[in-house]
Amino acid sequence: MPRRVRLLILCILTLICWSPATAEAARVKRKAALGPVGYQLSIPEPTTRYVHMRLELAEAPEHQTTLAMPAWTPGSYLIRDFGKHVYDVEAHDLDGGALSVARRDKQSWTVENGGRPFVVEYRVYAGELSVRTSYVDDRFALLNGAGIFMYVDGQTSRAAALELRPPAGWGVHTALDPGADAGRFTAPSYDELIDSPLLLGEAEVRRFEVVGKPIELVMVAPGGTNARPDRVAADAERIVRAFARTLNGLPFDRYSFLLIGDEAGGGGLEHHDSTAMIVKPWSFTDDRGYAGLQRLMAHEFFHVWNVKRIHDQVLGPFDYHKESYSELLWFHEGLTETMETRGLLRAGLISADEYLGTLAAAWTSYRRKPGRNHTPIAELSREAWIKAYKPEANHGETTVSYYEKGNLIGVCLDLTLRLRGRANRTDGSLEGLFRRLWALRDPSSGHASIDVDDIIAAASAEAGEDMRWFFERYVYGTEELPLPELLEQAGFEVVAARIGEHDARARVWSGIGGGAAISLIEPDSPASAAGLMLGDELIAVDGARVDSVGEANERLADLGIGATATLTLFRRDRLETRELTTAQNPHQRFTVLRPEQPDNPELARLRQLWLLEHLI
Ligand SMILES: [Zn+2]
Repeated sequence: MPRRVRLLILCILTLICWSPATAEAARVKRKAALGPVGYQLSIPEPTTRYVHMRLELAEAPEHQTTLAMPAWTPGSYLIRDFGKHVYDVEAHDLDGGALSVARRDKQSWTVENGGRPFVVEYRVYAGELSVRTSYVDDRFALLNGAGIFMYVDGQTSRAAALELRPPAGWGVHTALDPGADAGRFTAPSYDELIDSPLLLGEAEVRRFEVVGKPIELVMVAPGGTNARPDRVAADAERIVRAFARTLNGLPFDRYSFLLIGDEAGGGGLEHHDSTAMIVKPWSFTDDRGYAGLQRLMAHEFFHVWNVKRIHDQVLGPFDYHKESYSELLWFHEGLTETMETRGLLRAGLISADEYLGTLAAAWTSYRRKPGRNHTPIAELSREAWIKAYKPEANHGETTVSYYEKGNLIGVCLDLTLRLRGRANRTDGSLEGLFRRLWALRDPSSGHASIDVDDIIAAASAEAGEDMRWFFERYVYGTEELPLPELLEQAGFEVVAARIGEHDARARVWSGIGGGAAISLIEPDSPASAAGLMLGDELIAVDGARVDSVGEANERLADLGIGATATLTLFRRDRLETRELTTAQNPHQRFTVLRPEQPDNPELARLRQLWLLEHLI
């Protein structure tokens, strides 16, 4: 072979071997081999609400290093721009020599470190108490990692070592792995570092074990509470046991329920080995309030599987710089709602009749939502970033919550799998679907990275036949959910009564909803015929002052069906009047009844299994 040809072949081979992909792989490998990022967190003056951060990079081989704050926090699909809370960013080398730091954009900073180790210090203002943000006062701190810790751009797989220096006398509660010394913790990656919220302060702690795994309930309520932590812990234990039975074990080493009692409640946020929840501090003794806490605990705990370990491919590892668009939020949140109720049933915290009552109430409320079939729920999942948490006046008629519709899709799917499974001699169920998805997990990561085809395949295996049609109709299409029909196929009776059958006032219908201003006008309603607009502020009905849409509806109910009233309103700054004639409420209230007469024993068995009555 002539030398020139040999050289050419060598060049081509070199090019092939040194493709960009190989270069990227080498770069990733080099970064993965870098030692941990050292974080030190202190709160020297809690009354100022500032968290002081010191970040040390003992290995920083690049000439310039970019550090960034996440734009969002996993589990909450809204751009929050955590960089806005960061102040006084400074960098220096290990000898204290100042290094240049330039703010590159709204969330990142570039340090000129010349390939040498360096330290960055900054302060974070923590003034918002919610499970998605961070808060410090002189009694306690709830810190959500995404709003506190900077990451090294391109190196989120790098391990982290954290030293916590809370104010004297404050306890430290977190699911992070403890290090060798007190106050030190480690995380195998940035993702896991920020996926363990920190609850600092004096707390009530209860501990229990389920299938050999230690679990703790940590409770802080600085303003007082009527909670009985023993009861809360006992119910948490029943919930954990119920899901451990459903999914055949628990996939963590230990788990923390972090619970704050504060008027800012309620809500929760799921994390890999913990959850942070805020509930109203005096809500524990009324049945509704306490049932809400049980639901919240069951919901957040089922996320241990659904979304934290079984998740859309785009939901981990995360791109913190920008939105991660998922079509599966109806699955991750909605079916977690479905499983939350099933978990409470399995835990014995609600009865089968309460389960049916909850379902009937959910269907009654859902059927009143005019936007429920406007946009496919898969599309609303993708649009969560710009719609779900950025409400606009017309959303009532064009959108629906992916929690609410996803929950009912979950119930419809569960019943369909059971009914088709009965015909095809499989034991189909929603629990079985989750077990199948869980079996897809990668043994090394412990995560099942899925897409909708995996869900369809699991559903089809449960049903014993192809289930793609279900997803095309109800997830990617906008057909009405077939809940009453499915319940009837299972032998239940679904009774639809006119709203207000036993309540004359509830029979009167205006078709307006809202608070201070109108935020819902039902289609083909008295309100739409009257020419009302979203955003109108109702100030009087027949000359009598009203302060809200609710109060206007009360006055209209006083007048009865078919009455015409003069509504006075502000449309922006212009005073207007409109005539509205009330009508009979067309909505229905649904009840689900068990069959009075014995029917097909196979259907009776199906209902028994669905309501988990075989366990009693
Ligand atoms: Zn959730």
